[in-house]
Amino acid sequence: MSDNVRVRFAPSPTGKLHIGGARTAIYNWAFARANGGDFILRIDDTDPTRSTDENTQIILRAMRWLGLDWDEGPEVGGDFGPYSQTERLDMYKAAAQKMWDEGTAYPCFCTPEQLAADREAAQARKDPFQGYQRRCRGLSREEAQARIDAGEPYVLRIKVPADRGNVVINDAVHGEVTFDAKELDDFVIFRSDGTPTYNFATVVDDAAMRITHVIRGDDHLSNTPRQVMVYEALGAPVPTFAHISMILGADGKKLSKRHGATSVEEYRDAGYLSDAFVNYLALLGWSLDGETTVIPRDVLASKFSLDRISKNPATFDPKKLDWMNAEYINAMSDADFADQIMLPELLEADMIDEGFEADEAWVDALAAIVRPRTKMPADAAAVAAPVFATAETLAYDEKSVAKGLAKEGLGAVLDAARTALEALSEDAWTPESIDAALEPLPEALDVKKRLVFGAVRVAECGNMVSPPLGETMALIGRDDCLARIDRARPMAG
Ligand code: GLU
Repeated sequence: MSDNVRVRFAPSPTGKLHIGGARTAIYNWAFARANGGDFILRIDDTDPTRSTDENTQIILRAMRWLGLDWDEGPEVGGDFGPYSQTERLDMYKAAAQKMWDEGTAYPCFCTPEQLAADREAAQARKDPFQGYQRRCRGLSREEAQARIDAGEPYVLRIKVPADRGNVVINDAVHGEVTFDAKELDDFVIFRSDGTPTYNFATVVDDAAMRITHVIRGDDHLSNTPRQVMVYEALGAPVPTFAHISMILGADGKKLSKRHGATSVEEYRDAGYLSDAFVNYLALLGWSLDGETTVIPRDVLASKFSLDRISKNPATFDPKKLDWMNAEYINAMSDADFADQIMLPELLEADMIDEGFEADEAWVDALAAIVRPRTKMPADAAAVAAPVFATAETLAYDEKSVAKGLAKEGLGAVLDAARTALEALSEDAWTPESIDAALEPLPEALDVKKRLVFGAVRVAECGNMVSPPLGETMALIGRDDCLARIDRARPMAG
């Protein structure tokens, strides 16, 4: 494909960026990147009652978090701006004027009452054409102008050519879609309050911004024939359309609040990794080869294609998203995990402070035991908690104490473990030597290995589910480990 692909994501700032919108943005972004084209962000804020600056900011923030950089749009500018519709009113007016001048649009003075009466009459006589009855279509220019000058309210309607016939689009996802000529109304392009309608403003913008592919939700498929009429009236080339399926919840209904978190922000705040989230959303209706599930951003940005978008609605499955998130955490290096997830989480949990400084090898060793046990970032703090506790502050889980420490004979186990561990010097305090020191105890004491290691684990970590014992104890440090055994001793049986 040539390098002049231009696509846009055009959210209306009437709310936050939701999962469906995010997926549309991802597809547009990936399509632009895969084709060396331009990705344009345009704010469709023509609905002044529901659009807010705050929502625009939320959307921009979500786009940044998703890592969907735009080549033109708010904050970055570009040659085809401005990039919010409220700033483009003059262009819509100029386009509408041009259409009137060229006879592809006309003013209509019909009152709402007149329109309602005409509609009823069309229904009563079972007219196959139920739309606007084209009452003002035949007014002469002079007459129309005189009524405008006299202050009569009017809207501007497109003049659909009488012989237009069916509108056929070749949608990149749905294939050939035919819209019956009967449905082609002389629809309103400018309202009486001087604001453009969505179908008009969008096409004026898409044409002016030289958009080559319109990738959007298939709730807009029914708008497409009207938009095609506007392209034709403006004499602009019609872009390729790709209407992507809805996203459904597990119950088969359109994804909504009822299904849980729907805004991108909520997922960011819950700690999902942007890369994993983008990967998961990309797969809701698109596949690389029908099998591969982990598709890093750079692969998405080079391999995305419209022909692998599915016609069928996709189902959003939070469990698969969680799985994907864990996959991404699992694939990280210990150092990246430490910097990007573990240390920020420890800071967040007040387990370390801003000025936290530690030996790099110590941090890496900690990351190595915490990472495999972290599915969501917040898990990291819980897993690392015993390491950051001290003999005084360590919390003992009651059930673990009852099950793993309080039983008959385990006091003697702790005594023996303490003696064996105390024999290790500070320098010899490594995972291997700790394990080696504890290794002979089961046989020497004739106590099951599971019970011996369980007792030491509860004494050192306060629970029975902590990471590998030798590694954890090495991180805690010799003196504190011995002090923990002393503190736990009275709880042992
Ligand atoms: N502002 C419209 C929306 O958010 C854009 C539709 C389109 O892509 O044409 O639904």
